[in-house]
Amino acid sequence: MFALTFLGTSASVPSAERNHPALLVEAAGQRILVDCGEGTQRQLLRSGAGFRRLDRILLTHAHLDHVLGIPGLFSTLGLRQTSDAMTIHGGEGTLDLVIRMLAGLWGAGRAPIPVEFAALSEGQVIDAGDFTIDCFPVRHRDTDSFGFVFQSPARRHLQSDRLAALGVPDGPLRGELAAGRPIVVDGRAIDPEDVLGPPSGGKKLVVIGDAETTDGLSKHVADADMLVIEATFLERDAPTARNYGHLTAAEAASFAAANNVGQLVLTHMSGRYEDEEILAEATRILPNSRIAADFDHVVI
Ligand SMILES: [Zn+2]
Ligand SMILES: [Zn+2]
Repeated sequence: MFALTFLGTSASVPSAERNHPALLVEAAGQRILVDCGEGTQRQLLRSGAGFRRLDRILLTHAHLDHVLGIPGLFSTLGLRQTSDAMTIHGGEGTLDLVIRMLAGLWGAGRAPIPVEFAALSEGQVIDAGDFTIDCFPVRHRDTDSFGFVFQSPARRHLQSDRLAALGVPDGPLRGELAAGRPIVVDGRAIDPEDVLGPPSGGKKLVVIGDAETTDGLSKHVADADMLVIEATFLERDAPTARNYGHLTAAEAASFAAANNVGQLVLTHMSGRYEDEEILAEATRILPNSRIAADFDHVVI
C-alpha cells in the first residue's frame, strides 16, 4: 500500500492554490519526499503530515521549482534539533546544485542537520523490505532527471477452505505454511502449494517529474497501478511544450493508456489553463485520469 499526499502541484510559477512541486509517499511506516519545491515545509504542516520520520528525499531534477524548499526545511528541522540524518537521492548534477546551495548558505558540510548524498544511477535505490524503489533516467532539457518506481511485492495468502479440508489446525502450523514451509499433520505431509492462493496485493506506483518525452520509458511504467506525471501544456500548445521540454496532457494520457496504467494522476499544472480543459484532454484518451490538487491524499 502506498499513500500519496500531494504537497505542491504547480509548474515553475506557483499560484494561489498550487505550491511548487513536492509529493509525500508513505509506505510501511516510512515517509519519502519526492522533490521539495519552495514552501514545502509549510505544505507539510498544512497537510497534517508534519516533520516526523522524514529522512529521505528523492529529487527528480535540479530545476529550482523542485529544490528551493530544501534549505528552509533543513533550517526548521535543525531548529527542532532533529537528529535523524537526511538522505538526498538525485542525479550527480542535481546533487551538485543542492550541495552548492547548502554550502552557499551555511558553508561546506555545515547544513543545520546531518545530510548524506546518494547519487542515482539506473536500478534499485532502496530495498525497504516491504517495498522497493527503483529509478530510471528521464529526458528533460539539460538536466540529469530520474523517475521512480515504488513497488510492493504481491503476497500469497492461506486459503481457509483448503486448510479446513486438509485438517490443518489453527496455530503455528498455519504460520509455517504461510512462510512457505511444508508441515506434517497426523502423519500426512502438507505442502504450502496445497493451501496458498494466487499472488495478490502487490502494487506499483511510478512517479515521473518533468519530461520532454516519454520515449524509452514504457518498460518502467508498464502495468503500473498508478502513474504520477507532469502535464504542463495542452495539445494546442504542443510546439511550446517541445520548446520548454514538457509534456501535454494528451501525451501523458496516451503514454499511460499504451502501457496499461490503472490510474493516471497529472501534476505540474500551468496556471494558463483551466483544470477542466486539462482533465478533458486526458480523460478523452484515458478515462481513469485525474488532476492532482495541493493536499490531495490518494491511497493505492
Ligand atoms: Zn518543474
Ligand atoms: Zn524542470
